[in-house]
Amino acid sequence: MTSVLFEGIGLLYTGDPAAEELRDAALVVADGEVLWTGPSDRAPDADERVDVEGGCVIPGFVDSHAHLVFAGDRTEEFTARMSGVPYSAGGIRTTVAATRQATGGELAGRTASLVAEMLDQGTTTVEIKSGYGLTIEDERRSLEIAAAFTGETTYLGAHVVPPGLSADDYVREVTGPMLDACAPYARWIDVFCERGAFDGDQTREILAAGIAAGLGARVHAGQLGEGPGVSIACELGAASADHCTHLSAADVEALAGSGVVATLLPGAEFSTRSPYPDARRLIDAGVTVALATDCNPGSSFTSSMPFCVALAVREMAMTPLEAIRAATVGGARALRRTDVGALRPGARADLVVLDAPSYTHLAYRPGVPLVRQVWQGGVRVV
Ligand SMILES: [Zn+2]
Repeated sequence: MTSVLFEGIGLLYTGDPAAEELRDAALVVADGEVLWTGPSDRAPDADERVDVEGGCVIPGFVDSHAHLVFAGDRTEEFTARMSGVPYSAGGIRTTVAATRQATGGELAGRTASLVAEMLDQGTTTVEIKSGYGLTIEDERRSLEIAAAFTGETTYLGAHVVPPGLSADDYVREVTGPMLDACAPYARWIDVFCERGAFDGDQTREILAAGIAAGLGARVHAGQLGEGPGVSIACELGAASADHCTHLSAADVEALAGSGVVATLLPGAEFSTRSPYPDARRLIDAGVTVALATDCNPGSSFTSSMPFCVALAVREMAMTPLEAIRAATVGGARALRRTDVGALRPGARADLVVLDAPSYTHLAYRPGVPLVRQVWQGGVRVV
């Protein structure tokens, strides 16, 4: 068991409420896990040393919402939107057509390069959804590809109703044979609960079927307008309600009492030129907030958690501390994980060394590549 001592840490963000931030800190990892954190003058000895020269060390980002298995390109839709055409859920069908035509090798290659792009920017845990196949075999294939990259795979057959099928027929398929084919590759089930996608009754029925098949629930809720998604998430004990851009007072109250994480996806508002979610209202009400990229070819084609942190601070009135917390511990909570998202003894040694004295620089120096090293399970990968 080789142990590694990280020394010269100007600021260590642990994500552990017992000692969330440590200055002049050190950290020891061994056997893929964090062994010790504390002040540098009390650091234990180790087999190897890594001097981070005053840099800031944070847990690897946990991106708990991403759609990475797809083909095609929607540059023209983005250009049209930036010229004033409003965003709607319908653009998903463009990606569905391209994804069905692609070979499995092409899809796996695209997914691999996006996962690598994320790793380069400090993301060491990523959730990957299906949702661009929308046939039994295409959804199964998407999840099989996703499962090669992460254990956090989500069955999103209920992304939109594909052309040529009635909503009733499609819901029967999603809750029946498609669920049977996909469940072996999925940890989670998700529904796009939105006007133009699935209504409250359909959402409840689909999530309940997934839960009965042993999957955990998560919901796309309140992206384009207020709707029943958040209350259904709370009612069914979902891990997370995602987007939460349009919430009623009752939604906020329900989230605060539920333990359901509100996952905010500011890349989507940025890329659709829409008003951002009210993070302050949620945090002040005691809701656990996560930040994720929503990486997808239509409404948020960014793989960058540092960019989302910068947006959260600049556009959503989150403090830098709240934003880094949401991007690490918050994401882990949204995936019901305690082994990632924080650097405390026993946690996985997933960490990022920043070329900056503080995580605040992620927002203070937006767009600048500040990720200097990435370690995953105690192994340097970037
Ligand atoms: Zn999404």
